[in-house]
Amino acid sequence: MAAERVFNFNAGPAVLPATVLAEVQRDLLALPDAGMSVLEVSHRSATMDAILERAVADIRQVTGLPEHFHVLFLQGGATQQFAMVPLNLLPPAGSADYVLTGVWSRKAYEEAGQFGTVRVAGSTESEGFSRIPAAGDLDLADSAAYLHLASNNTICGTQWRALPDSGEVPLVVDASSDIFSRPIEFERVGLLYAGAQKNLGPAGVTLVIVRDDLVRRAPTRSGVPTMLRYATHVGAGSRHNTPPVFAIYMVGLVVRWLLATGGLAEMARRNERKARELYEAIDRTPFYRGTAAPDSRSSMNVTFRLPAPELETRFVDEARQAGLVGLRGHRSVGGVRASIYNACPEAAVDALVAFMAEFERTHG
Ligand SMILES: *Cc1c(COP(=O)(O)O)cnc(C)c1O
Repeated sequence: MAAERVFNFNAGPAVLPATVLAEVQRDLLALPDAGMSVLEVSHRSATMDAILERAVADIRQVTGLPEHFHVLFLQGGATQQFAMVPLNLLPPAGSADYVLTGVWSRKAYEEAGQFGTVRVAGSTESEGFSRIPAAGDLDLADSAAYLHLASNNTICGTQWRALPDSGEVPLVVDASSDIFSRPIEFERVGLLYAGAQKNLGPAGVTLVIVRDDLVRRAPTRSGVPTMLRYATHVGAGSRHNTPPVFAIYMVGLVVRWLLATGGLAEMARRNERKARELYEAIDRTPFYRGTAAPDSRSSMNVTFRLPAPELETRFVDEARQAGLVGLRGHRSVGGVRASIYNACPEAAVDALVAFMAEFERTHG
């Protein structure tokens, strides 16, 4: 008999839709029409062609993606994009702008610094990354090769309400922890990337959505390895070498689930509803204290503190015993973090809110 599922609040790898997992289980021994497992099919087979092409088509549909963008499935995680972006888009004599709003955007900035000149176009580091800078606080250079930011800050629990207007400068977005949680303003995007394991599928594949003119102009330097050039993967339809077949298959199923659930606008409504319920529970009492500025709060990663670190440890431990798993804050910041991605059901948030009230009653 299958083990019972807990409520999973892990930050990543994270909860996946139960219906998708059931579908994977049903078809795991033999995919319909293939007679073999998706784990066994050749990446050069018609079966894989169909899986990949359908996944790309469904991503185009669910995002309303304009024609002049490419959809790529790569490896190396979001972390590899920290290097691929400058290797492809930052000319040796150029400069790129980075907004620092958290641990990951800082890592992206530091990695790019190995390959050229990088400039901080905005930062909330002195405030513990507790908010997103206002549009007026950004210092953007017209001559920048691109502007990089992380749309959602997984560790600090903040999220851009809207993407900034970077004018003619291509905007590069690390959307690893809020990809497809809401509609994407592609008119503002040059390149968007996301490791799949937070909101999109299992670990092992990275989604990159990139504008055609950027691919044509890249790489802007010599000596970039074949595997690290966007043009390689555009030309080969994400099959330059063996792609992560199973992870792509699962991302395809998750996107189909998004379409069946009503698409990104409906997903945004659900995510807002879940986040509001949780933030209201935090704001109702001084026992819990949200760490993000209210206008910068994330709808994906809800971070909060209790009056003392010992209480936070007890909270996380007792929650786990009650079937609410993965609530410990990132080791670099401590506290409590509830990651409530697309596939996190409302019942999980209801259960967490009830647990919070009970915990305060017994420990407050
Ligand atoms: C998790 C995360 C990363 C790192 O992703 P990997 O796929 O493990 O490389 C980068 N950026 C953000 C915003 C993240 O949440």
